[in-house]
Amino acid sequence: MLDTAKLAFSTINQRRSHRDFMEYSSQQLTNSFSEALTGNPSNSNTPQQTPGLLWHCSEPTPVSNPNLIAYFDEVAELLGITPSAMQSDDMLARLSGNQLFSGFTPYSACYGGHQFGHWAGQLGDGRAITIAELTHNNRRHELQLKGAGLTPYSRTADGRAVLRSSIREFLCSEAMHHLGIPTTRALSLVTTGDSVIRDVMYDGHPAPEPGAIVCRVAPSFIRFGNFELPAARNEQDNLNQLIDFTIEHDFPEISGTREQKVAKWFSEVCQRTAKMLIEWQRVGFVHGVMNTDNMSILGLTIDYGPYGWLDEFDSQWTPNTTDAQGRRYRFGNQPTIGRWNLVALANALASVIEDVEIFKVGIGLFDMTISQGMLSMQCNKFGLNNVKEFDEKNAGIINRAYELMQNSAVDFTLFFNQLTKVDLENPSVDSLLDTFYEDTSDLDDFSSWLKSYCQIIRETNVDRDERHDTMEKTNPKFILRNYLSQLAIENAEKGNWEELFKLMELLRSPYELKDSDLNYATKRPEWAKHKVGCSMLSCSS
Ligand code: AMP
Ligand code: MG
Repeated sequence: MLDTAKLAFSTINQRRSHRDFMEYSSQQLTNSFSEALTGNPSNSNTPQQTPGLLWHCSEPTPVSNPNLIAYFDEVAELLGITPSAMQSDDMLARLSGNQLFSGFTPYSACYGGHQFGHWAGQLGDGRAITIAELTHNNRRHELQLKGAGLTPYSRTADGRAVLRSSIREFLCSEAMHHLGIPTTRALSLVTTGDSVIRDVMYDGHPAPEPGAIVCRVAPSFIRFGNFELPAARNEQDNLNQLIDFTIEHDFPEISGTREQKVAKWFSEVCQRTAKMLIEWQRVGFVHGVMNTDNMSILGLTIDYGPYGWLDEFDSQWTPNTTDAQGRRYRFGNQPTIGRWNLVALANALASVIEDVEIFKVGIGLFDMTISQGMLSMQCNKFGLNNVKEFDEKNAGIINRAYELMQNSAVDFTLFFNQLTKVDLENPSVDSLLDTFYEDTSDLDDFSSWLKSYCQIIRETNVDRDERHDTMEKTNPKFILRNYLSQLAIENAEKGNWEELFKLMELLRSPYELKDSDLNYATKRPEWAKHKVGCSMLSCSS
């Protein structure tokens, strides 16, 4: 990728024109969302309430000097876009919002949401515009520009995005994908040449920052909030339209009567959400803003804002300074919030679906998937035999490990990497010492925990190679630590993109790391502990 990333950095003069590629056939380029659902097809960029609508046409606002900084070629491939087409002037014009895909009505979706537990009314795509919906190899994808200018849903904001938050979304989308976690994807990162004013820590110090646009890709960007708003507005026809559209387009495998379809669909959403959350807990990802408008109906990780990755394990941690008081969206609370959000979705759907039993079944499935899935995921992390007869023993040893980690400062990722390599016959706590951020008085406790742990493994006759293999596949070596992104951002803001390209390369194989790259898999350095952008992030983006 490094090569293509560098290529993508080529100047406008070197880009070739690929107008032919842009002329999609009607099978490839469709308008299914806007054709099936009620919206307003006249372009508007004026913030407004849009009762009665599920979308509004909004064309991107042109930018002054777009530059394609980088793109992920596997995402381009997914869309059937060749490297030379990716680097063409025509493509840059579209990825910056300076030109439209002919035959497609660009739109912003209208949705609401519960923010921090409170109903917030109409929100909508305030700076996201869907610029194409295309099918390649029988798979449908939406292309959405984030930061492309004002839409009817921009409320009091400017519709733009800054480079730092765009880099964070660009990198993390793909990092999650390569970790095996359901997510929206990122195609491209374009700088706009225009600056954007932001008050990073909301402390009265607004300053200009470079603007950027990420093109993100997903089969659909529909959120729980898309269903909540028509329910709150008592727009039953719109809500029914949206339910039927979603099932037909995004869950085509579901069959039966309408009631049966809705029941199966809701259960599927519950299960997918549970599976996504288990994966977040596996790798130490904290989303930061799990409002219902940031929950994908497809169970994808969506809207990368003030997210973060655990350095030292702390179930109470959230990177989002806006949530520092209540810590609603802290690491340990994510499954509970996922459930809360599903209940909010169920409440919305219940305004048009009579049989409320189906929602109870779905939520029950969520609970079951979470409790079984979490234990099974933890057994894999610890390399324990995941069979029922050992459930209690396993749960005991796992819980004790988390208790100890919570009370000390232990690096979450490195702890499991070290545990994979521990000498099971002759365990020594020394092998874990490198994973501690501070001297710990709990060393004796860790030592006796390690002995009991190794004893369980020996007693249960876990196949050693299999254990090693499972642990390596479950515990990543490379995670996109906040400070690594921050370093890439600081360099990028000075015009040096090398760190960004390096991270793009590393995040592709998080379970393997070359010896020469081991410096990217170390503990967070001390300087980053309390630094803005590393451990503290706001919603300002
Ligand atoms: P978020 O917390 O980023 O998910 O955003 C919450 C809502 O605010 C969504 O409706 C966003 O589209 C909108 N929003 C966030 N930032 C901006 C911005 N710079 N311009 C317009 N709308 C925004
Ligand atoms: Mg959002």
